[in-house]
Amino acid sequence: MLYYSLKNHKNLVSFEDAVLTGLSPDGGLYMPKCIPKLKPKFIKKLPTYDIHTIAMSIIKPYIGKNIPEKFIDNIIHDTLNFSFPLKKVHNNIHVLELFHGPTLAFKDVGAKFMAGCLSFFSEKLEKNVTVLVATSGDTGGAVAKGFHKKPGIEVIILYPYNGVSSLQEEQITSLGANILAVEIHGNFDDCQKMVKKAFLDKEINKKYTLTSANSINVGRWLPQMFYYFVAYKQIIVKDPIELIFSVPSGNFGNICAGMMAEKMGLPIKFFIASTNINDTIPRFLRNEKYHPLPVKKTISNAMDISDPSNFSRIWHLYKKNIFQLRKKLFSYKFTDEETLSIIKKIWKKYKYILDPHGAIGYLGLRQYLQEMNNTLEPGIFLETAHPIKFLDNMPPILQKKIVPTKELEIFLKKKKTIQKISLSKDFNVFKSWFLEKK
Ligand SMILES: *Cc1c(COP(=O)(O)O)cnc(C)c1O
Repeated sequence: MLYYSLKNHKNLVSFEDAVLTGLSPDGGLYMPKCIPKLKPKFIKKLPTYDIHTIAMSIIKPYIGKNIPEKFIDNIIHDTLNFSFPLKKVHNNIHVLELFHGPTLAFKDVGAKFMAGCLSFFSEKLEKNVTVLVATSGDTGGAVAKGFHKKPGIEVIILYPYNGVSSLQEEQITSLGANILAVEIHGNFDDCQKMVKKAFLDKEINKKYTLTSANSINVGRWLPQMFYYFVAYKQIIVKDPIELIFSVPSGNFGNICAGMMAEKMGLPIKFFIASTNINDTIPRFLRNEKYHPLPVKKTISNAMDISDPSNFSRIWHLYKKNIFQLRKKLFSYKFTDEETLSIIKKIWKKYKYILDPHGAIGYLGLRQYLQEMNNTLEPGIFLETAHPIKFLDNMPPILQKKIVPTKELEIFLKKKKTIQKISLSKDFNVFKSWFLEKK
């Protein structure tokens, strides 16, 4: 499979180069040259396949011959070693839980998969590969864990000062070895801008072989298609059906992966991009003006993003046509008050504990179904993180009810050395630090 840059469709590279560089030298995101179609028979038989078989079938064409099949098989095996349960919350509303991985957020799948690919590619290189990544909280932890002690790879994580939860910060700053945590006095968009600038900087690129592990990188982004297939596999209702997905969205990588799954042939009727008050996309869908406002802090901090990178991929997938996009996508925003109130209500009525991100997913799905007067079709919202990751942001009456997972208990008890570097959001300050660090 070849990949082209969204800024210049003539700039074609292999999967290997797309993963190794993250972003095209012209600053554009990479897109696969074609979207392979799955056979209708495959979709029909999906409920009978195991998750390994499903993942292999969907991802193989995107890699081609760049990685031998045996290795892809190992990477998938390593990546999908936890569960992705689909549960009914009430009536036709279902939740797909994506937080059973090592860092308790959905980003574990993309991060581990990409780490596996990068390890394979970096063996042939003389220089180390430096992964430079900006995080709104969960990418940092997942990338740190997924890349920890991988030979030939060094990881630098930029995260916003005071912008991530305490557990998230601990996950980023406590591993050491090849993982460097850098706290930036700014917000996530500032961190993301720095990463993009670093990629285009001549001096930095002369010294380092840089890549990114944000959903900008196709190695991080594409494996997320898997969630939508695994939801379809588990939902047992009358055949044939089309699903409705509500995705709590920040950088719009996850929902864009869902759109790729749909283009491959998975029967998805509609997507709902649910956001917090950082609502660039809900506004865009109304008035077709892309106008990011300054980022506002919310209790769903992993979505405190106002200039989502992956929207350029979505816009491209729908041929830059607002009418086509509106046929497949709605987008709603919700406030912190609405988020807290629905968390309490769902616990009271159905004994299910939503995290602030999943709560926004739930709210978006509910609003869509109400507007459509739809009480029959199965709707699924993605629960993107375990509520314990955002304990400080949860309603006080629920905080004591949230039980940590076994893995988390071990992590919390372990003695840790916190290591971080603190820098201003001035790119030149970051650049001098980066060029001079040992
Ligand atoms: C990253 C993240 C999101 C947003 O996902 P995008 O792919 O950036 O839209 C939502 N919820 C949680 C918990 C996250 O960590």
